[in-house]
Amino acid sequence: MESSTTPSLPSVPPPSSSSSSSGPLTPALDAEEGVEELTLVVKWSGREYTVRVCGDDSVAELKRRICEATNVLPKRQKLLYPKLATKLSDDSILLCHLPLKPSVRMTMIGTVEDDIIVDQVDAPEVIDDFELGQDEVTEIKDKEVNKQKLRRRVNQYKFSTKPLTYFWLPYVLMIELLNPCRKGKKLLVLDIDYTLFDHRSTAENPLELMRPYLHEFLSAVYAEYDIIIWSATSMKWVELKMGQLGVLSNPNYKITALLDHLAMITVQSDSHGIFECKPLGLIWGQFPEVYNSKNTIMFDDLRRNFVMNPQNGLIIKPFRKAHLYRGTDQELMKLTRYLLAIAGLDDLSLLDHGYWESYAEDSTKRRRHR
Ligand SMILES: [Mg+2]
Repeated sequence: MESSTTPSLPSVPPPSSSSSSSGPLTPALDAEEGVEELTLVVKWSGREYTVRVCGDDSVAELKRRICEATNVLPKRQKLLYPKLATKLSDDSILLCHLPLKPSVRMTMIGTVEDDIIVDQVDAPEVIDDFELGQDEVTEIKDKEVNKQKLRRRVNQYKFSTKPLTYFWLPYVLMIELLNPCRKGKKLLVLDIDYTLFDHRSTAENPLELMRPYLHEFLSAVYAEYDIIIWSATSMKWVELKMGQLGVLSNPNYKITALLDHLAMITVQSDSHGIFECKPLGLIWGQFPEVYNSKNTIMFDDLRRNFVMNPQNGLIIKPFRKAHLYRGTDQELMKLTRYLLAIAGLDDLSLLDHGYWESYAEDSTKRRRHR
C-alpha cells in the first residue's frame, strides 16, 4: 500500500497527558482575546491526549484538534461523555453550551484510516455548492468570532524550513516550507479534489484522473506565482496525490507548501448552518511581507471555501468523470491565460474573478491586435 511507504506520516507525536495538572477540563481566560479556553483530556485507544480548545469553538473544531493529536479524522470520531453523546454528534454545537465538567474525561472511539484511497471513493460526495448571499458572505467575513478563530489559527501554525512535514510542539503546528517564498511574485492557492484531480473515478494509474494540462499550467504560472496546494482532506492524501501526479518533483516549477483540513476554520451561516472554509488570512498572517489580499488568488470548485476572502476566490468548473472529459477539458489552459494576463496588476482583489473567461479572451484578442 503506497500510503504505508510515506516515511514521515503520520508524524504528529501525541502530547503527554501529564500537561494537565489541574484536571481533565480546565477553563481559563485567554488574556489576549478574552476567550474562555478549555483544556480537555480525551481518552483514545488506551492513551490520554490533551487538547486545547476555546469555549466558542464548535464540536467540529474540537474534533479537528483531536485529529491533530491522534490522526483519527474528524468524520471517523465518535465522542463519548456522560449524557452528552447525542449533542457531541452535532458538529455545530458550541462547546460553551455543553455542561462539560472538570472531573470527567472524554472518550473518543475511532480508527485511523488505513486505506485512504478507499476512504476517498467511499466518502459521501459533496455535490451541491450552496450559494451564500452577498450580505451573508460579508457578515461571516466580518464577524468578530470568525476573525478571532482565524487569529488563533494563525498563532497555532508556524511554517518551517526544516525537513519535517508536521511535528508537534505545545499547541503549535509546524508546516514544512517546501520551497522559499519568492518576494515580488504573486500567490496562487489551489484545491485538489475536482480542481486538479477527479478523486471519485477509479483508474489503474492515477495519472488518468489528473486534470489535463496540469503540469503545463503549473510550469507556466510559476513564472509569476508562488504555488500553495490546500486540500480539505488529510495531509496523507495531499502528499500521496501530489506525489503520484509528479507535482512535487517536476523540474519546471516548485511548490511552496502544502496545507490540509487542519488549517481550515469552521464558520456558521444563518441559511446553511455550520461549514468549513479555507481562510487565506492564515497564509497572509504567516508571510505578511510576501503575500496579502492584493496579490493572492485561489482556485476551488466550492464557493463556500472562499467565504472569508470572497474577492480572492475563483470558482473552477469541477473536473469530474475524467474518463469522459479528459480529452476535452481545457480549463487549466484557459486559466493559464487569465493568470498571466492579470499577473501585472497591482491589486487582484479589485477584479471580479467570476468574469475570468471573458477577461482571458479579451486579453488574447488585445495581444493579437497589437
Ligand atoms: Mg474540491
